Amino acid sequence: MRVLIVEDEPELSRQLKESLSDAGYAVDCASDGEEAHFMGETEPYDAVILDLGLPVIDGLSILEKWRSAGRSMPVLILTARGSWTERVSGLDAGADDYLTKPFKMEELLARLRALIRRSSGHATAELVCGPVLLDTRQGKVTMDGRAIKLTALEFKLLSYLMHHADEVISRTELTEHIYDQDFDRDSNTIEVFVNRIRKKLGADIIQTVRGMGYRISESDPDQEE
Ligand code: CA
Repeated sequence: MRVLIVEDEPELSRQLKESLSDAGYAVDCASDGEEAHFMGETEPYDAVILDLGLPVIDGLSILEKWRSAGRSMPVLILTARGSWTERVSGLDAGADDYLTKPFKMEELLARLRALIRRSSGHATAELVCGPVLLDTRQGKVTMDGRAIKLTALEFKLLSYLMHHADEVISRTELTEHIYDQDFDRDSNTIEVFVNRIRKKLGADIIQTVRGMGYRISESDPDQEE
């Protein structure tokens, strides 16, 4: 899952980037409104954290521009304390949730998880595909109840496929959602990660759809007729 952080306070931006990276997200940062607007319009983020008070273009205007351009990614706005009018304007402009500064990082992470799973149609924090269970709160994967150790990139890839279970996901799409923009991307490495996950979870868990991409089914492949 790839997240854009829009925050002009350098220290808060740094803390957000660190916490989100530790939580297993690919993270990009923007510190002014113009840069943020461009990135949100051109890159496929799974969620955006948007401070409203920003240099060049304010957060509310950016959000309105994204929404009128049809950009529908979940957006969590950060608002100043006590400013209920800001929260109302933000929600009306298309924000999905808000947090008032100062906030606890744990709360931000919980809200972010909720936004991402709801936008991909999941109501609970645990995603299940056949024998595989991914706990989005703890960033842990089990198979038939047994803990499976995955590297950070393997986890990112599995998490994206499980959030989008039963959909065929191309290598390009996976590349765009598991790496941040500074990463030297190579879509050929996706196959390497898929094969490593298959070694750990079984060959059937990720299906290759020839010429199109990969798919994880929500039902157990062994149980299908
Ligand atoms: Ca600010």
